[in-house]
Amino acid sequence: MRAGVVGHPVAHSLSPLIHGVWIGALGLDATFERFDVAPQDFEAFVDRHRRGSLAGVNVTIPHKEVALRIADVVDAAAAGAGAANLLLFRPDGRVEARNTDGVGLLEAFRVQAPGFDVTAGPVLVIGAGGAARGAVAALIGAGAQDIRISNRTKSRAQALADAFDGRVRVSDSADGIAAVINATSLGLNGAGEVTIDWTRARPDAVAMDMVYKPLRTGFLAGARAAGRRTVDGLEMLIRQAMPSFEAFFGVAPPDIDVRTLALEALGERS
Ligand code: NAP
Repeated sequence: MRAGVVGHPVAHSLSPLIHGVWIGALGLDATFERFDVAPQDFEAFVDRHRRGSLAGVNVTIPHKEVALRIADVVDAAAAGAGAANLLLFRPDGRVEARNTDGVGLLEAFRVQAPGFDVTAGPVLVIGAGGAARGAVAALIGAGAQDIRISNRTKSRAQALADAFDGRVRVSDSADGIAAVINATSLGLNGAGEVTIDWTRARPDAVAMDMVYKPLRTGFLAGARAAGRRTVDGLEMLIRQAMPSFEAFFGVAPPDIDVRTLALEALGERS
């Protein structure tokens, strides 16, 4: 059995480590490989693997939107997110697009901020790229009634809000928010930082950062300093990998501490 992750660049991806640990623990005769594929070669890459030996691939930057467009079958999560992070090569030659990022996001909240309720108040999503759109789709699916989009490029924020119904609007306001999600690359490798006026947010507001390198971003440090709970991007990454693994190999990943190993790979303390 073969699966992998395709992106550009992809050397930094933790997916081979995560899936490799699960494969080893289950004793599967399987491999999980890295495919560095430039944007102009992505469609040919997918075509080449139709009816091939790959069960499927996780898809990462910059291919998620194209992956959705070229798939023959699309699940509801991928359609809602406008992007696919999982392609499955069906035996009949068709390619199926799914999105497990949304589930990963909600699962990360469940694990690291138990009791958090997406219906409790406004959720501020910062960013308007693929990750932000996926987050909005997942939040709406979970029952969120009030989502605010804040983005450097306002027209992109408006386009994202327009893709959904009246529950989603453009706003930078942190007033009364129950959660804030950083879905930009701000904070990645310490470059830039999302700042929030925590005095405006609910006392029990939760901060979530999709960036996981470093794990404790300035944004999450600020939330902690303001006494708020935090959810990190590594938990989201692990939680989106779980249903991907099951889709590739037909078995659920084992219940082992893959997070500590991933933290070691990132050079972080657990
Ligand atoms: P994307 O489509 O390229 O969108 C990037 C977003 O970041 C845009 O909203 C962009 O704003 C904003 N941005 C970039 N640089 C900025 C800056 N200097 N100041 C303010 N805003 C800035 O990327 P994406 O696919 O949505 O991914 C966003 C982040 O989420 C990435 O860091 C990615 O690694 C992370 N992610 C993590 C997971 C996980 O499992 N943890 C899953 C998915 C994504 P403009 O519109 O103004 O350009």
